[in-house]
Amino acid sequence: MKENTNIRSPVCIVMGHVDHGKTTILDFIRGTAIARGEAGGITQAISSTNLSIKVIQEVCGDLLNSLKTNITLPGILFIDSPGHAAFTNLRKRGGNIADIAILTIDINEGLKPQTIESIEILKKYKTPFIIAANKIDVISGWNSKADKTLLSSIQKQSENTKDFLDKKLYELVGQIYEIGFNSQRFDRVEDYTKEIAIIPLSAKTGEGIPELLMVLTGLAQKFLENCLECNLEKEAKGTILEVKEEKGIGTTLDAIIYDGTLKKGDTIIIGNIDEPIVTKVKALFEPGKKQLKAYNEVRAAIGVKISAPDIKEAIPGMPIISVKNKADINSKTKEIQKEIDEILIETDNEGIILKADSLGSLEALVSLVKEKKIPIKKASIGNVTKKDVADALSEKNEINKVILAFNTKPIETKEIKIISNEIIYKLLDDLEEWRKDEQSKIERKKLKGLVKPAKFMIMHNCIFRQSNPAVFGVEILSGILETGTPIMKSNGKKVNQIDQLQKEGENVNSAEKGEQLAVAVKGIIIGRQVIEGEILFSDISEKDFLKYKELKSLLKPDETQILKEIAGIKRRDNPVWGV
Ligand code: GDP
Repeated sequence: MKENTNIRSPVCIVMGHVDHGKTTILDFIRGTAIARGEAGGITQAISSTNLSIKVIQEVCGDLLNSLKTNITLPGILFIDSPGHAAFTNLRKRGGNIADIAILTIDINEGLKPQTIESIEILKKYKTPFIIAANKIDVISGWNSKADKTLLSSIQKQSENTKDFLDKKLYELVGQIYEIGFNSQRFDRVEDYTKEIAIIPLSAKTGEGIPELLMVLTGLAQKFLENCLECNLEKEAKGTILEVKEEKGIGTTLDAIIYDGTLKKGDTIIIGNIDEPIVTKVKALFEPGKKQLKAYNEVRAAIGVKISAPDIKEAIPGMPIISVKNKADINSKTKEIQKEIDEILIETDNEGIILKADSLGSLEALVSLVKEKKIPIKKASIGNVTKKDVADALSEKNEINKVILAFNTKPIETKEIKIISNEIIYKLLDDLEEWRKDEQSKIERKKLKGLVKPAKFMIMHNCIFRQSNPAVFGVEILSGILETGTPIMKSNGKKVNQIDQLQKEGENVNSAEKGEQLAVAVKGIIIGRQVIEGEILFSDISEKDFLKYKELKSLLKPDETQILKEIAGIKRRDNPVWGV
């Protein structure tokens, strides 16, 4: 270790699909710590739990010695993410605040949408993770009291139960392989840099929890040591988790300090939408407790409650830093503002509008939308407002008239398309699908006003009137026949236009392939210009034909086929027709 450096606690995020057991795992860990009476060793909070190495050692017992690694970590800071959103909230410049993650999967259910989203996020930030294959106690025939340690307990289960567990584990390994990772039960892993360790466990009975902590501690110690080395005497860096009113104290900030030391009396700068907030720490508390315990200072990585004046406007997900020298306040304020401005977008250009509940989720959204090369006009934090709707409406391009809203309160409006989804990646899929539909609607509109290609036959024994107008039965062989369509014979000779279409005594505007109906055509006599059994085509002008050529991709296969036949007829007289 370099001089003046310490090892800080790694930040471990617990993620996974809803109801797969994230909170229960953390509750068990917290409960264990409390039962062991480690006063002050644990921060009990909804959002963060600081577990000291002493508690980890006690929970793990001999297991930790089996790692054969000298443990120098002061502890682990756990963060419970109620959903994926909180995870993406926990940004820091150029990455994510989590050093490592526990992905919780209900072994009986396997991968679910939020599990996949969690893995995508972990992949994006290159965060190492392990898998807690939870709820093994539910496996048929499972005996929770078989033995003390997980592996010997598994050994002592009945053959059927053992087989079933293995089957479930291999199903999981297969599913995880499909999204690009190799994984293995933790004791079978040969190289932790190449395979993800799966720890079967039960958050309900506590089986496997010591093994989970052991693997986590070992991995963090072995592979994260370099990035955990820091000078803890430095100024603090952190991220706001929540802005909360506390009785008798006023507004407080629950924050994670991931670097340096924060002290009472320190000047702090908090990122904000227009201008950062500059204020002073009045008091620091252990978060999440009814009886608030005060600190004089906190060292990374730790969850802390900060009391300070003028923080009512603070926003979750925003960065917070402390400044030692007054002379640095200006430059640091500018630095923070620049960081925020890179995420909040407001331009005069054309593009879509993004809204999210916090800076972190907005940043994730902006980067995903940019990856898809979709232009952004505005990206901001908060609920969708009337102004956002007006801004979206003012877009010239129809496919930009949309608002993407992540984790915000919906607004009632029929004026504009608002796409919202609880899963960021789904939001993107929905957006792409909507834009594709809109695009094809716009294109199909361009086809309007062109004479539709149709091929039809005058049916035998269906002449209702010889002339004035001629009324006769036809069968549509292909395409769509509309009233007003000019028609021609298969030798290219013009016949008059379709005056009326009638089906079962009712006037209709158009008829499709396969339909049989009566048509009225003025100025012709059946038996002279046309005869029974004859095939006729719509008489498409060269101008319309060229337009169809331009919009080729929008045509259905049968439309393309008739157009080809029509061009063939026309080119008998004029070889360059429609070329
Ligand atoms: P979260 O949404 O991922 O935080 O899931 P919770 O921790 O709230 O758990 C969801 C439900 O599963 C709760 O009813 C828990 O009691 C239950 N649960 C969690 N872990 C286990 C377990 O290991 N075994 C069993 N049988 N139930 C569990």
